[in-house]
Amino acid sequence: MDIESIGIVGAGQMGNGIAHVCALAGYDVLLNDVRPEALEEAVALIRRNLDRQVSRGKVADTDRDAAMARIRTTLTLTDLGPKDLVIEAATEREDVKHAIFAELVPALGKQTILTSNTSSISITRLASRTDRPERFMGFHFMNPVPVMQLVELIRGIATDDATYAACHGVVERLGKTAATAEDFPAFIVNRILMPMINEAVYTLYEGVGNVNSIDQAMKLGTNHPMGPLELADFIGLDTCLAIMNVLHDGLGDTKYRPCPLLTKYVEAGWLGRKTQRGFYDYRGETPQPTR
Ligand code: NAD
Repeated sequence: MDIESIGIVGAGQMGNGIAHVCALAGYDVLLNDVRPEALEEAVALIRRNLDRQVSRGKVADTDRDAAMARIRTTLTLTDLGPKDLVIEAATEREDVKHAIFAELVPALGKQTILTSNTSSISITRLASRTDRPERFMGFHFMNPVPVMQLVELIRGIATDDATYAACHGVVERLGKTAATAEDFPAFIVNRILMPMINEAVYTLYEGVGNVNSIDQAMKLGTNHPMGPLELADFIGLDTCLAIMNVLHDGLGDTKYRPCPLLTKYVEAGWLGRKTQRGFYDYRGETPQPTR
């Protein structure tokens, strides 16, 4: 199946990045959010990020202009119905995603492929609540989308070969590389990454190290480009907590219990970079550790 148009639900940090790379690859993009300001900020951010790519010589200015012209926005979810492919990238909460699919599905074209960028929620379960489990799969981009090479493709139990092949074709046209994962909690990347981040928060909670020493130790001691707490702030602490809960509930092993300190930060609304405060405070010139 030929994919030419893509609808994206959610214009947060992932939705705007997905819109950016899809438009640059020549797809016609329609971006939806419930918050008008999210759509405005997303378009402005895509423009700034494309400008940066132009100034670094990675993108021609004519390609930037063509990409910007391919992006439209809407507050009406059902406007995405006629698109060839829909990528859902809204908040990581299963009830939010079910509600989106319930509203969207009746408006979808018969052949439309429906996907979710979820970091952890069961693709099979999400698919079972739609009318098209065979044309449903996980399309999991990494953050920041324009920079990261990997896309995890996750097949639900019912996903058919044509749907998988069409999504694989999109990944290739985006110039990215696919890794295929089976549909088990948090798939491959987050199954391995999140317990490490959660352990870093336990290390902080138990006073083994402070924010600086933990990030410094992991950067210099294991050659990671970012420390785990800095990375958690980048991903969003609410998303990290949601993924740990999915691992804990889905696999039933106490080794996945979310650290109480992670829960506390989320309860405080300290969600990382997106709210200006998390394990670091980003409101000043340079990020300051909060513990
Ligand atoms: P975010 O909080 O930055 O953005 C979520 C957006 O969804 C917000 O703009 C919100 O207004 C919008 N939204 C909420 N309900 C909606 C609805 N009913 N209809 C339309 N829009 C709605 O979150 P994010 O980091 O962009 O994460 C989005 C998804 O991508 C999640 O499923 C997350 O697990 C996944 N993901 C995140 C990362 C990451 O590093 N942050 C990486 C890969 C995948």
